[in-house]
Amino acid sequence: RAKDTGKNNYQFYTRQLTSNAVQKMEVELDLRRAITEAPEELEVFYQPQINLVTGMVSSAEALVRWQHPDGKRIGPDEFIPAAENTGLIIPLGQHVLRQSCLDFLNWQREGLELERICVNVSAVQLLRSSFYEDTQAILQETGIPPEALELEVTETALMKDDETVAHVLAQLQDKGIQIAIDDFGTGYSSLGRLQSLPVDRLKIDRSFMPEDAQAHGDHALITSVLSLASNLNLEVVAEGVETEYQAELLIRNRCQLAQGYLYSPPLPNSAFVEWVRRHTEVMQF
Ligand code: C2E
Ligand code: MG
Ligand code: MG
Ligand code: MG
Repeated sequence: RAKDTGKNNYQFYTRQLTSNAVQKMEVELDLRRAITEAPEELEVFYQPQINLVTGMVSSAEALVRWQHPDGKRIGPDEFIPAAENTGLIIPLGQHVLRQSCLDFLNWQREGLELERICVNVSAVQLLRSSFYEDTQAILQETGIPPEALELEVTETALMKDDETVAHVLAQLQDKGIQIAIDDFGTGYSSLGRLQSLPVDRLKIDRSFMPEDAQAHGDHALITSVLSLASNLNLEVVAEGVETEYQAELLIRNRCQLAQGYLYSPPLPNSAFVEWVRRHTEVMQF
């Protein structure tokens, strides 16, 4: 009997495994189809970043969504890992970067005065030897000034490899492209390393946003990151700002920039343009 049960478990286990592996392969094949045949399914949404001193929109973060033909909208956490495992992150990343640059230039033409567009890049992209040239090519092809582009690199990606990533970031920064460390605080980078990296901004991970006035530990974390950044001459973007309480805390502690549901969720391009127009009008009265 024990043997039977064992056998059944084994069969159950392999069946599970197979179906997971098949499911994974299906996602990868479908993603390949989308990227090569229907890149418009991969739509770029934009979330405003607010300058906490002036109250104006300073910039926007590009966040990709997969508008699947079967009607579902799939978030990046569900397909970026598959894109990274298959190398599809390379054409996907180029698609997002090109679209973001083009949309930014359109905003300028329509009179929106944003300083820059922020685009996420994964470690897989940065570790490719042609990343610098590929990025330069997209800047030239679209005509966006390098100062108007910020690349967001997660703290974890920065720790994967010492030299290659630091070197390519330095090359990009030399060209005028801005560099931000994303999800800062989740990756344990040393202060020495932080100072040696070519970086312009830190994005504090949203897990550090205190819920309320009672969360004393969180306050200490936020205020120490802000004073550390100011000593290193780095600007700080607070992510995941959802309440007035959090915004006031950030303003009191001289955080420069914030983004989050308090202001706006990520929006499709046309809704984003409308949002910035309305926000600008409100701020000018
Ligand atoms: P991230 O770069 O840290 O982006 C911030 C995430 O927080 C976004 O999730 C955004 O929608 C969400 N968010 C913004 N404000 C709030 C808020 O007030 N509260 C809460 N709870 N969440 C908020 P999203 O769009 O699902 O993206 C998840 C991650 O996927 C991103 O994290 C980024 O690491 C990755 N990602 C998105 N687009 C791209 C891309 O084009 N390329 C690459 N390589 N990664 C991307
Ligand atoms: Mg980001
Ligand atoms: Mg982040
Ligand atoms: Mg994140």
